[in-house]
Amino acid sequence: MTRLFGTNGIRGVVNQDMNSTLALGIGQAWGTYLKKTVPRPRCAIGTDARLSNHMLKSAITAGFLSTGCDVVDVGLVPTPTLQYTVKEKRFDAGIIITASHNPPQFNGIKGTAHDGTELTKDVEEAIETIYFSQQFALSDWKDVGNYSTWDGAIELYVEGVLSCVDVASIKRQRFHVVLDCGNGAGCLVTPILLKKLGCQVTKMNCEPDGTFPGRHSEPVPENLTLLMKKVSETQASFGVGLDGDADRAIFIDENGSYIWGDKSLSLVGKYITRKKNGGVTVTPVTTSTCFEDVIHQNKGSVIYTKVGSPIVASVMKEHHAMFGGEENGGLIFPAFQYCRDSAMALATILEILATEKRPLSELVAEIPSYEMLKTKIACPNEQKEPIMNLLATEMNDNNKITKVDRTDGLKLYMKDGWVLLRPSGTEPIFRVYVEAKEKQQAERVAIFYKNLVESLMQRA
Ligand code: MG
Repeated sequence: MTRLFGTNGIRGVVNQDMNSTLALGIGQAWGTYLKKTVPRPRCAIGTDARLSNHMLKSAITAGFLSTGCDVVDVGLVPTPTLQYTVKEKRFDAGIIITASHNPPQFNGIKGTAHDGTELTKDVEEAIETIYFSQQFALSDWKDVGNYSTWDGAIELYVEGVLSCVDVASIKRQRFHVVLDCGNGAGCLVTPILLKKLGCQVTKMNCEPDGTFPGRHSEPVPENLTLLMKKVSETQASFGVGLDGDADRAIFIDENGSYIWGDKSLSLVGKYITRKKNGGVTVTPVTTSTCFEDVIHQNKGSVIYTKVGSPIVASVMKEHHAMFGGEENGGLIFPAFQYCRDSAMALATILEILATEKRPLSELVAEIPSYEMLKTKIACPNEQKEPIMNLLATEMNDNNKITKVDRTDGLKLYMKDGWVLLRPSGTEPIFRVYVEAKEKQQAERVAIFYKNLVESLMQRA
């Protein structure tokens, strides 16, 4: 069967692979799925700031209504705002129209379960099966769903975030924050949150605009150069840059330096496990060892998962984790909700600064540093599995390997570092991640494994 859902919902270029016919069909399939267990499902829908948001929202809404589901439209909101609303207001499902950090011509459909968490693979597959079979349970004419709007989601969400942090001590510090929303959905929430936390805010790209005129939406260093400059120019306490649907946040220290996602993940993980005297944390196998280092220092433990935030969140739930997240600025705070959440990340960083009363750069400098190298090797899809097997056998005889982890691909631990070889699920490539204490060592390991995979390809 052809897959529609990827790691983060369904995505595509608008009016090509992501069109209104597809959205209508997904609404009908998903509505049919919900009706199997709930007599009259209630769904919440929201969108990010993209130009095609109304087109796709209208189409998928029509699909839900046709199967007898009620739809409540909460408007333009960040993904975590929609997720929180679904959980708090006890909806049966949530739909967010977003393509996160993708270029403006893209859009997508992302779903949540009744508790606000991202849909699991088996639910996605059940929806896909109904979609491809076209066996939609359309309702009788008098049972067609109701459509209504609700404008309380942002207030509900902001108040929820505020209830999780020490507002009084943050307010006392009167932080100056440079906020770059990248013209995404965060524009609707983050300025309000910072104001309520008593911060002086210098705004950049804080008008929602689906053409993304200010910068590209992905908060990588090359897209945040103006933010970094602004932070040092204005002598702000720090800067924060969001992605298009504001589930991820990247921080800039008071000197204008970019803080990599695994450093902010580690800083927050360190703070939370220290406060709670340990606890379980969860992160994918791609995260830097610096996370494990600080968690272990505070009597905590780390569970590694496959790559992808839905899997991190579900493992967190299963193990009652204290904290978790990804190395790309996607932090998950279970006390609030099991979803990546930039507003919670920002509020928590403010609380850490208010508690520590030291600059962000100093706190980040205390996190251990490693050299991480990411590269890829071209490999036809049908050769991926044979090569993985050959690699595993090969590694049995390699006395430099101290541990083999097959959580996602092949992660090989050495005396002072690791290498992860991961076949891509979508492209004909192997992704290679190397971490070592020294850059030259990381480069040496990367070249060794690149050559090894290429020689195995001859044999496979
Ligand atoms: Mg995102």
